[in-house]
Amino acid sequence: MQTLTFADCSFEKAGTNYMKKRNIAILGSTGSIGTQALEVIERHPENFEIEVLTAQNSADLLIEQALKYRPNTVVIVNEDHYQKVFDALDPQDIKVFAGENALASVVEMDSIDMVLTALVGYSGLLPTIRAINAGKTIALANKETLVVAGEMITKLAQEKGVNILPVDSEHSAIFQCIVGEFHNPIEKLTLTASGGPFRGKNRELLASVTKEQALKHPNWDMGAKITIDSATMMNKGLEVIEAKWLFGVSLDQIEVVVHPQSIIHSIVQFEDGSMKAQMGLPDMRVPIQFAMTYPGRLKADYPRFDFMNYPELTFEKPDVETFRNLGLAFEVAKEGGNQPCILNAANEIAVQGFLEDKVGFLEISDVIENCLKKVSYIRNPELEDFIQTDKETRAKALELIK
Ligand code: MG
Repeated sequence: MQTLTFADCSFEKAGTNYMKKRNIAILGSTGSIGTQALEVIERHPENFEIEVLTAQNSADLLIEQALKYRPNTVVIVNEDHYQKVFDALDPQDIKVFAGENALASVVEMDSIDMVLTALVGYSGLLPTIRAINAGKTIALANKETLVVAGEMITKLAQEKGVNILPVDSEHSAIFQCIVGEFHNPIEKLTLTASGGPFRGKNRELLASVTKEQALKHPNWDMGAKITIDSATMMNKGLEVIEAKWLFGVSLDQIEVVVHPQSIIHSIVQFEDGSMKAQMGLPDMRVPIQFAMTYPGRLKADYPRFDFMNYPELTFEKPDVETFRNLGLAFEVAKEGGNQPCILNAANEIAVQGFLEDKVGFLEISDVIENCLKKVSYIRNPELEDFIQTDKETRAKALELIK
């Protein structure tokens, strides 16, 4: 191996690629993160073997992906599409399963090294638990899993010696800053937020915004649920809770700063006052790839940042009065127990309602607040309590938006 030498460190020659091949399962391969993960893999075919692809409803795209990437197994969660997927893939020697249970058990396959959880919302919880129990490395794109049951999940991962590698861009940024610093305590984490499409707007204006406006994110190209969560700032609230569990810090060590250009993806401050930031153009393929190749980095030709195109990077305080969801997330994170689970379930239903024109933009927070009042508090929930809380909250929220 050719190396450059600097003091007592040695660097591998640029462009070398020593990563051992990884066998990967992508849960949610037809969504925004899933399709971008496949783009990453396509750039590095020698480094990855795709074992499993799964989709909720998108049968046609799942079939297309399976024919192209030749996984061992696919799961279509919505059983109505099973026959179609089976007919297309069984003759190709690709195993086809359907349903929630198949999704949760497929992650246990011996041949899998890493599970990328790119499912939307609460549905990621059970498969993630099964994957951790089976000792698989988790590339976590499903933040709701840690929001709902962060304490349980991180404890389980520690017991099993399983790494949970963040895919979320902010958490990937923090992770990239602390690699090599794992023994240095964190003083403060600063999560940056773009502010979404409605940054600077007041509640009067927000009362009448449409889903079309909310779905236009200024910087990031993402799925519908997370894009609405970004517009309401709930996404940042969920990310605060995600960061608390991933990095083992307390809530008062986490601050949110609005940074409309989305170039600095987040910042770590250490106990000597030094701050490390990770930056780059907003491109989810970068954090996806880092989670999949950690601790290494693979060469990629994604567009590069140019300082001259961004003469000003700016920062603002988030407006938690207007965007109540962010404040609510801090409150439930403080309360703990099943409160984050209630917040998450109510939000999922309210966002769905907003996308179906049944709920106004500002009413999303009303639904969540109402559910937080009505669903009973459990201080030390077990898995069964989360399942029950999720179910009960969804029913309450649905009643509220009828
Ligand atoms: Mg994010």
